[in-house]
Amino acid sequence: MGRKFFVGGNWKCNGTVESLSKLVGVLNAGEIVSTDIVEVVVAPTFIYLPMVKDKLRKEIQVSAQNCWVKKGGAYTGEVSAEQLVDMGIPYVILGHSERRHILKESHDFVGEKCAYALSKGLKVIACIGETLDEREAGDTIKVCAQQLDAIKEAIGDNWANVVVAYEPVWAIGTGKVATPEQAEDVHLEVRKWLAENVSAEVAESTRILYGGSVTAGNCKELAKKPNVDGFLVGGASLKAEFIDIINSAQ
Ligand code: PEP
Repeated sequence: MGRKFFVGGNWKCNGTVESLSKLVGVLNAGEIVSTDIVEVVVAPTFIYLPMVKDKLRKEIQVSAQNCWVKKGGAYTGEVSAEQLVDMGIPYVILGHSERRHILKESHDFVGEKCAYALSKGLKVIACIGETLDEREAGDTIKVCAQQLDAIKEAIGDNWANVVVAYEPVWAIGTGKVATPEQAEDVHLEVRKWLAENVSAEVAESTRILYGGSVTAGNCKELAKKPNVDGFLVGGASLKAEFIDIINSAQ
């Protein structure tokens, strides 16, 4: 069976009850292709997760944007994987570049978070990607491999519930989208990495998303690439054009 297209909307630290209710209304009213063709997930902040989950059409799932690295307890301000499961949240985004770079989450810490979240039954959208300096130094693949190595070290061969999101840091929120060729080149290398370091089956079945300034205007060309299995979308997921991005599923 082929890989089902996947479109995630990362709402980041945006929204209010009023604005997110409106956005959910837009998503509920939009015509979207069948869930046989595309899996759709949106990720509001923790506080709005239950509200969005309740109001949203059932074809669209919800995701957290982060979770704690181990069992809950005396960790002020954190939300545990168990608590997400308890609230019926199926997905969590881990290793987003804003957490790696602003909050200094290391590769190993992200790997450990992935392992713990998976062990509790969450599905993980694991983000990787290079900075502009790293790309210009020719280190794109090396950096992505280091990030993947740390995940593999923690989760072993247990990739069935992992979606990989390749998000070049220089493309996130900048309006500078990777070209379809740039995205495809890296996705192909990520798939090779999976084949060499995990297994041919995992390489074949794992969805590899592209993220970084995806819009309704550029998604169709990106989606044509054979190793682009969907998108993780920031800014455009807060707008009606997210429907067009969902419908770019091939
Ligand atoms: C993101 O933060 O995951 C992202 C891809 O953002 P944007 O689409 O706004 O570049």
